Amino acid sequence: MSLRFFNTLTLSLQPFAPAEGRTVRMYTCGPTVYDFAHIGNFRTFIFFDLLRRWLRASGYELSHVMNITDVDDKIIRNAMAQQKSMADYTAVYTQAFLDDSKMLRLESAEKLVRATEHIPEMAAAIETLTEKGFTYETDGSIYFRIAKFPEYGKLSHNDFSGNRSGARVDSDTYEKDDARDFVLWKAPKEGEPFWDTKVGPGRPGWHIECSVMAIEYLGETLDIHAGGVDLTFPHHENEIAQSESLTGKPFARFWLHAEFLLVDGQKMSKSLGNFYTLRDILERGHPAETVRYLLAAVPYRKGLNFTFEGLKSAATAIDRLRNYELRLKTEKFPPGTDAALLGRTERAGTEFRDALDDDLNTAEALAAVFEYIRETNTAMDAGGFQAGNTQYALEFLRQFDAVFDVLRPAEKEDSLSDAQVDEKIAERTHAKKARDFKRADAIRQELDAQGIILEDTKDGVRWKRK
Ligand code: AMP
Ligand code: ZN
Repeated sequence: MSLRFFNTLTLSLQPFAPAEGRTVRMYTCGPTVYDFAHIGNFRTFIFFDLLRRWLRASGYELSHVMNITDVDDKIIRNAMAQQKSMADYTAVYTQAFLDDSKMLRLESAEKLVRATEHIPEMAAAIETLTEKGFTYETDGSIYFRIAKFPEYGKLSHNDFSGNRSGARVDSDTYEKDDARDFVLWKAPKEGEPFWDTKVGPGRPGWHIECSVMAIEYLGETLDIHAGGVDLTFPHHENEIAQSESLTGKPFARFWLHAEFLLVDGQKMSKSLGNFYTLRDILERGHPAETVRYLLAAVPYRKGLNFTFEGLKSAATAIDRLRNYELRLKTEKFPPGTDAALLGRTERAGTEFRDALDDDLNTAEALAAVFEYIRETNTAMDAGGFQAGNTQYALEFLRQFDAVFDVLRPAEKEDSLSDAQVDEKIAERTHAKKARDFKRADAIRQELDAQGIILEDTKDGVRWKRK
C-alpha cells in the first residue's frame, strides 16, 4: 500500500508524494528557547523524527527546515529580568534543546534556522504585504488585516465569516479566539531591545518568522508543514494568511499535526506545572531510549498519557527486543533455512511497512514486530528456527531500528573531556583565590568522583585520570 498521511487541510487521508522529484520539502515549527523543553514538546519532535525516517525509508530525500524561535515576549522579559542579552539568554536553552534532541536520537533537520538571523527578510515581507494592502499600522506596530484574506479559517475549519469584533491582541503567544487580526511587527516598549528596519524599529511577530524562513529556504509551496496540534490555530492559520497573501500560491500541500502528551488527561505544559524535562527523567534513572520508545509507540494523532508505569513498560519492550537480537547473534541454530519461517519474516516486513505507510501507525508496526518475535522465539525453542533464517530476521530488526532507533543502549555517561577538566580546575583555582575553600574542595571531590586526581605543584595544578 502506498504512503498516506492525514492532512489537516482536507481532513482526510491522502496518498503522499513530493510535488517535484524525489525530494520532500518540509518545514516543522521548532522550539521557543525561553526555557528547557519538556517531554511533551519532545513528543512532537519525536513525531518529526519518525516522519523524516519513514520518508527516507520510503525512498525520498529530505530538505527539512526547522526554526528556533529565539525572540518573543517571554524571552525578552526573562532576559531583561536577568540583565542578559537575548542572545546570551537563549544560547543556554538552544544548546539544551540540541543536547536533549541528541540524547533522544532525533535526526537534525537539514537546516536549523534562527529567527533573529532573518530579521531583514521579515521586514521586507511585511513591507510587501503592506504594499499589497494587507496591513495597517497602529502605534508603530503592524497588523495583518484578516478581512483581506477570505480563506482565513480553511486549515482550522473555523468559520470566521460572522460579524466579529476584530479586537487585536498584542501578544505573539496565543491570540484570543475572536481576535482576528494579528501582529506582524511589534513596536518596542520602553527599554526593550529592538531592530531598526525598513518597517521601523521593533521585532517580528512569531507567525511571520515561520512564513518567511520556510519560503526563503523551501520555496513558495512546501510538501509538508508539521507541528503540534495547538499550532493549527492561530499559528498555522496565520502562516497561511501571510504566505498566500505574499505569493498567491498554496503555502503547503500537506499539514500534519501531532496530538498532545497528557498527564492525567491534561496537556503537559509549563503553565499547568505538570511537566517533566528529559533531564528530570534521566535523573530518576530511566534511559533516554525508554522515553523515545514511549513517545513513539502511540500513533501521533492519538493523545498519549504519560506515566512512569508507561516508561517501565517501554523499558521491558526494549529489553525484549535486545534479548531477541542477542539470541539471533549468539545462538547456534541447526543448519539450513526454514522456508515457512522465511515467509513469516517477509510477512512481518510487509505488515511493518503497511502500518507505517498508514499515516505512521507506530502501534501497529510495533504489534507486527512483537508478534513476529513471539512466534520466532517459539520456533527457536522448538528447534524449528534454522541458521539460514538468522540474516533475514536481523535484516527485519535493522529495518525496525532504522525508524525506532532503540536497540543501541545509551553510552554510559562519558567521563569528562580534557577541556572540561581544565575548566573545572580553572574554576577551583578561582575559588581558592577568592578564599572560597569550600567550593574549591567541592570541585576537587567532584573531579575525584569522575576519576580525576589533582596534584597541586609549584607550577600549578597537574591532573591525571585514575
Ligand atoms: P513551544 O516551544 O512552546 O513553541 O512548543 C514546541 C512544540 O511543542 C510545539 O509544536 C507544540 O505544539 C508542542 N507541544 C507543546 N506541548 C505539548 C504537549 N503536551 N504534547 C505534545 N506537543 C506539545
Ligand atoms: Zn511555525
